[in-house]
Amino acid sequence: MKIFDAAWPLNHTPSAEELSAAAAKACGVKPGKIVRCDIVRRSLDARGQLLYRYQIRAMVEGDAPAKAYEFHYKNVTSAKPVIIIGGGPAGMFAALRLLERGLKPVILERGKDVHSRKKDIAAISVRGQVCADSNYCYGEGGAGTFSDGKLFTRSSKRGDIYEVLHQMVNFGAQPQILIDARPHIGSDVLPKMVESIRECITSHGGEYHFNSKVIDLKPLGGDGPRWEAVCEGGLTFKADNVILASGHSASDIYSLFDAKGWQLEPKDFALGVRVEHPQSLINNIQYHGRWQPGMPPAEYYLAEQIDGRGVFSFCMCPGGILVPSSTESDGIVLNGMSNSLRNGPRANAGIVVQVSLADVPDYDRFGTFALLEFQRQVEKTMFSYSNSLKAPAQRMVDFCRGKQSAGLPASSYTAGITAAPLTELLPQFVSERLRRAFPLFDRKMKGFYTNEALVLACESRTSSPIRIPRDATTLQHASLPGLYPCGEGAGYAGGIVSSALDGIAVANAISD
Ligand SMILES: Cc1cc2nc3c(=O)[nH]c(=O)nc-3n(C[C@H](O)[C@H](O)[C@H](O)COP(=O)(O)OP(=O)(O)OC[C@H]3O[C@@H](n4cnc5c(N)ncnc54)[C@H](O)[C@@H]3O)c2cc1C
Repeated sequence: MKIFDAAWPLNHTPSAEELSAAAAKACGVKPGKIVRCDIVRRSLDARGQLLYRYQIRAMVEGDAPAKAYEFHYKNVTSAKPVIIIGGGPAGMFAALRLLERGLKPVILERGKDVHSRKKDIAAISVRGQVCADSNYCYGEGGAGTFSDGKLFTRSSKRGDIYEVLHQMVNFGAQPQILIDARPHIGSDVLPKMVESIRECITSHGGEYHFNSKVIDLKPLGGDGPRWEAVCEGGLTFKADNVILASGHSASDIYSLFDAKGWQLEPKDFALGVRVEHPQSLINNIQYHGRWQPGMPPAEYYLAEQIDGRGVFSFCMCPGGILVPSSTESDGIVLNGMSNSLRNGPRANAGIVVQVSLADVPDYDRFGTFALLEFQRQVEKTMFSYSNSLKAPAQRMVDFCRGKQSAGLPASSYTAGITAAPLTELLPQFVSERLRRAFPLFDRKMKGFYTNEALVLACESRTSSPIRIPRDATTLQHASLPGLYPCGEGAGYAGGIVSSALDGIAVANAISD
């Protein structure tokens, strides 16, 4: 087997014959000796002539076959249960692995099924109402269901990313996510994929319980199951093992741990703003004025060190929209989502500053919860400015010069915007670094620093500000056997794919 690189012009898809001929040349054999040829990676190169660069895997007669991704789910109707708290990527992929291993996943999800959830999501933008248990973060599929569905991750050490991508394709994601260098799914496809995963789990005997918020977890003595999960309303579930995959917004779970005296740790996170540019402007910058229909909308990643602290772009959404993704009705949290074509007229990204305990001495009295309280306070400050979900916003150059914007350009933010002095609303150590970073970003992307761009606040849920410690080998909570903190909320993942990988790792730890 040989992996080799090749390139073809943007508007030319290589035929099977062309791939075989290139493979034969790369392997030094006659084309007839090539038994199989697969594109494993594709990326757009806009530096010179517009090209797609391919990584191709060629198999010559006699080669061992490449790894096949096949998933065999068992019927687990009568098998031993494992409680999974949270039906996000970590919970869903843990459940799928448990099915393969012959254990019965019992998913307890505080939110609604994806179909019912859509109505609550619409109400957030239309009526400014945030349903406490059904919103952009809570509900079937977790925080990633109504998102850009970016699947790019650097966490290759956590497990086999391709295993997750292959499962996603089996459940309805576009096959090109298997080869795109920066794959994404989109909010028009994600809900269907999430539903198919649920159908697979329930048709094999696993259980899904929606509207089932876990409000207590009890370690049990005796010879029976080790754990009991109590849901709001009184329903209880028992099992030897519990996977806690409740995501980074479930502060009530952290409070539950605190009330029980179970170990938690503060964790650094990042906070800042979302910026929104016309997509055409980003295309012009990134493609040097050569963007043409058929080319993907351009992305960017930017980072600077300002006063010894990272200021970086986060979760960039080309052709996407900004959405209100708070889980509380008195806070503003911005995030981005897009459809599979990413064909909206605007580009948005979080631009955030690293935050650690040392930055928030005023919150010392909250102990482990200091960063969480700080995060919450910033979200509330943004809400208080308009007493609504309308996001405080300022033009980018005005923001850097400390000048209130007289008029604002149109924004995709679905709950509306209001002109505001963001430098006064954001914590000073954040706003000062952002003001210095934007002009520096312009050196890397000429045209990025412009008053055509909007700065909106705030982007605060980049990752969990608290970690639930677990043993590095067993993956169980440091002092609670049978309890497996998992995914983003526990502080062991960030993003859809890494959370899914963590779910698989925890399910492996339970079933090995
Ligand atoms: C709008 C938006 C866009 C995003 N875009 C991307 C992107 O493009 N790419 C990317 O990689 N990441 C993106 N993310 C982040 C990504 O969604 C998360 O990193 C990922 O979903 C974390 O997975 P998880 O399973 O650990 O937690 P979550 O997805 O947060 O799932 C946790 C689940 O637990 C449930 N839950 C919480 N508390 C309880 C309880 N007490 N009882 C029962 N259930 C409970 C919640 O309802 C939720 O469904 C986005 C997030 C948002 C909000």
